[in-house]
Amino acid sequence: MLVAGGTDVYPKMKRGQFTPRHLISLRALRELKGIRRSKEGLWIGAGESLTAVSAHPVIIKHFPALAHAAESVSTPQLRNMGTIGGNVLVDTRCNYYDQTFFWRQAVGFCMKKDGDICLVAPGSSKCLAIASSDTAPVLVSLGAEAILVNKQGERQVKLEDLYRDDGIDYSAKTKDEVLTALLIPRDSLGRRNAYLKLRRRGSFDFPILGVAATMEANEQGECRHASVVLTAVASAPKMVPEVSTLLHGKKVTRELIDAVADAAAKISHPLDNADLDYWYRKRMAKVYTQRALAQVAGLEDRSIGVME
Ligand SMILES: Cc1cc2nc3c(=O)[nH]c(=O)nc-3n(C[C@H](O)[C@H](O)[C@H](O)COP(=O)(O)OP(=O)(O)OC[C@H]3O[C@@H](n4cnc5c(N)ncnc54)[C@H](O)[C@@H]3O)c2cc1C
Ligand code: SF4
Repeated sequence: MLVAGGTDVYPKMKRGQFTPRHLISLRALRELKGIRRSKEGLWIGAGESLTAVSAHPVIIKHFPALAHAAESVSTPQLRNMGTIGGNVLVDTRCNYYDQTFFWRQAVGFCMKKDGDICLVAPGSSKCLAIASSDTAPVLVSLGAEAILVNKQGERQVKLEDLYRDDGIDYSAKTKDEVLTALLIPRDSLGRRNAYLKLRRRGSFDFPILGVAATMEANEQGECRHASVVLTAVASAPKMVPEVSTLLHGKKVTRELIDAVADAAAKISHPLDNADLDYWYRKRMAKVYTQRALAQVAGLEDRSIGVME
């Protein structure tokens, strides 16, 4: 198994969730380091720490949502070790899986590791563990590409195509591929972006809902581009497809934002396998989408709550 910062891999090895025969460290690879502007956009080496990403001046200036998402991950120590590459590939989570070996043994294990059935939805043929990366929804909403390399060569794919809505087989990356970098295209440089994260403790919890929004408007205030991506509502980051049809070419109003937020809530299917009630998380998908879109559209309204 490949390991970068090890902040997900090592705790999971301790709990017997990962049992690799060999670990291959990526930490010394210079090819995975650096954050630089190129003619294609902003190239972010997969081996850069979350601390470096959140403190980088170009990222703070142009992609505050990414800086915020990176700095909202766990704790300062873990952000110093944890990398952005490890973050976009971080394992899916579930309350029945993220437990010690003894706990999991006591409940008879589940299909994600050592068992046969899903304990959250026993009738389900697939694992429904949730996508939990903070930076992935932001990067997807910014149209980022993933650069992957193996012995056969290099390939570049849309980041959203790297995910599968399957809690076990959640990544389309092949086992022998190393993620070299994430590329945010040039087009995204002038777009407003925001990321809002829901969690119980603001100091270090994983997201139980994350909403990333990106928008570009012309001088008349008409929307030229918009995207909303949710996390922790399925096993992969989820784009809200209605955004472009509802907003493109129009002056963004509260009514239109409400319509997008309704669509976001509709495609959110939180289950009883993470913190806080799942019906509350579904309702918050609407509220957080309203807030994130209001922020990028410059319609911030304090009456719908304090932005995180
Ligand atoms: C207490 C705690 C709280 C946390 N809170 C959050 C949180 O709020 N939000 C959040 O998003 N995460 C959270 N995490 C998870 C983790 O710390 C971060 O996701 C971190 O960014 C993972 O990066 P890493 O470099 O340590 O990954 P690793 O643990 O090294 O690897 C993670 C996965 O990515 C693969 N991988 C890593 N780099 C590459 C590469 N370049 N190419 C191919 N495969 C690669 C590994 O094989 C592994 O499957 C938390 C972890 C802990 C322990
Ligand atoms: S969703 Fe089901 S199969 Fe997946 S980790 Fe949770 S209990 Fe296990």
